[in-house]
Amino acid sequence: MIELVRRRSAMRASALVIAAGVSFGAAAVATPASAAPPVAGVATARPAPPAPSTSTGYGGAVSSVDAEASRIGLEVLRKGGNAADAAVATAAALGVTEPYSAGIGGGGYFVHFDAETGEVTTVDGRETAPAAMESDAFIDPATGSPYSFANAVSSGLSVGVPGTVATWEAALEEYGTESLKEMLKPSILLATRGFRVDETFAAQTAANQARFAQFPATAELFLPGGAPPEVGSTFRNPDLAKTLREIALRGTDAFYEGVIAEEIAALVQDPITTDDAELPAYPGFMTADDLAGYEVLLQDPTHVEYRGLDVFGMAPSSSGGTTVGESLNILENFELSPDDPGQALHLYLEATAHAFADRNAYVGDPAFVDVPTETLLSQEFADSRACEIDPEQASVRPVAPGDLDATGCEVAAAAASVDQGMSTTHLSVVDRWGNAVAYTLTIEQTGGSGMTVPDRGFLLNNELTDFSFVPNPDDPNIVEPGKRPRSSMSPTIVLDDGEVRYVVGSPGGSTIITTVVQILLNRIDLGMDLAEAVAAPRATQRNTVATLAEADFIAEYADDLAPYGQGLSATGEIGAAATIEVDDDGLMIAVAEPERRGGGTGLVVEPAD
Ligand code: GLU
Repeated sequence: MIELVRRRSAMRASALVIAAGVSFGAAAVATPASAAPPVAGVATARPAPPAPSTSTGYGGAVSSVDAEASRIGLEVLRKGGNAADAAVATAAALGVTEPYSAGIGGGGYFVHFDAETGEVTTVDGRETAPAAMESDAFIDPATGSPYSFANAVSSGLSVGVPGTVATWEAALEEYGTESLKEMLKPSILLATRGFRVDETFAAQTAANQARFAQFPATAELFLPGGAPPEVGSTFRNPDLAKTLREIALRGTDAFYEGVIAEEIAALVQDPITTDDAELPAYPGFMTADDLAGYEVLLQDPTHVEYRGLDVFGMAPSSSGGTTVGESLNILENFELSPDDPGQALHLYLEATAHAFADRNAYVGDPAFVDVPTETLLSQEFADSRACEIDPEQASVRPVAPGDLDATGCEVAAAAASVDQGMSTTHLSVVDRWGNAVAYTLTIEQTGGSGMTVPDRGFLLNNELTDFSFVPNPDDPNIVEPGKRPRSSMSPTIVLDDGEVRYVVGSPGGSTIITTVVQILLNRIDLGMDLAEAVAAPRATQRNTVATLAEADFIAEYADDLAPYGQGLSATGEIGAAATIEVDDDGLMIAVAEPERRGGGTGLVVEPAD
């Protein structure tokens, strides 16, 4: 079932002035000492509250990559808001403190579990291609070849019509108890007062410095004085505060219609670069009408059973739900044991390689291509894929996609794979009533398109580079007007006997899928608790010749995997998960990364210890 959701037309203008200190979440954003402006010779105030990566307790839990964002979500829960309310407040805060990963210039996928009805439903807030964007948009007319990926990223051409603000509105209307206005207040305050620049933020800025410098509005905001902000300094974004305030007061129309929409369209169509810019910054096709016409989709989740648990994820346009689901269905064919990690990890790599072959061949936006979602999620299809896997020997990759009509073991010719960026952010929430949210949101690459809307304080996404550049009609993921590019985002909720057990998700481009599968495998099959399952070193096999693995994974498991012919190639960090578990007694364990991306923050309302 898919339902289009139009945004509400102009919300009643409110006379309420959103001022610091009077908001719903004021206590949550009372500036910790670390976020206070550094003043020479003046002692700083009380220290920032602790930001543990794992917390255990009751009454609600929030997990995200960022301490400020998790605290803001937790405060919403503490004051009686539900999981959807807290998820929106947390997401808005991530847009302030993680502006290179997420924000109102991007999109995402919101999965919700309603404890009262037992229903899981989703909001597809993926960006769309503008109505005037044709399948050959990424082909350089001068050469007849595709633009380079790097040049396409930093351009108007890559910017999809943003879905995040509409997602927040839809999520609150469908599942929430608070208004968008209330849920934006803590972030308005946070953007105004600022946050402490940490190593991750400084490093992400430095990595983008060369291209940010070529877009004046971006350089002005993120390269103050021409350089990345220093670690320990306070980063304020009053323009973003102003933009969020307008949305809070006037509703989503403030973003999708009128001046801001016109400014976004103008920038996309005519990117503003410095005089000495080297980037070609190709113009895009977005118009104000594209923004006014944006709709989120309310749709059913994907569902598979795994080891007696019900695993729900995001249906296409994301490939997350089908690919996580198919991987688990394949693994269901095998007994996996912590006593034999080599065997378990070999099968994990094979399962995801095969599921990725099918993802690449069959998944795109179902509004434009016939996606065999039901087959991809069926146990029968997964069984036919499992019997192509040799339990003792690695496959020759890339493996071919499966025959959708197969019931036995039929092996076809090989096919190539594709890759995606490594940005994005994920948050997980469970409230005191047992409702849950898994929400992954993004602006695609770290720093998105690199283009900041002047005086508005936010970056525009480059989500359209998730499309295939070459207009091959057999490819389900070619550009089409109004289409959503295929995503890998995999916000996942696992139920046990109708109650939430795990909430899982991560950034990381197409490695998101393997990270979610690996965390579930670690937790469900390999005897790890959730904190261990998240911290454990990762490897990712996405139907490519090489299997990429973190250095610790290679150190720990290369010898176990060698007898299977599974070679490993070193890569950096894979993912940055934010997860929650609820045990049989209702004890909540909020687990974020202890180290990746500088460590995240898992918090509970009433700590058990
Ligand atoms: N654009 C990617 C997707 O939708 C996410 C970006 C990332 O995580 O790096 O799958």
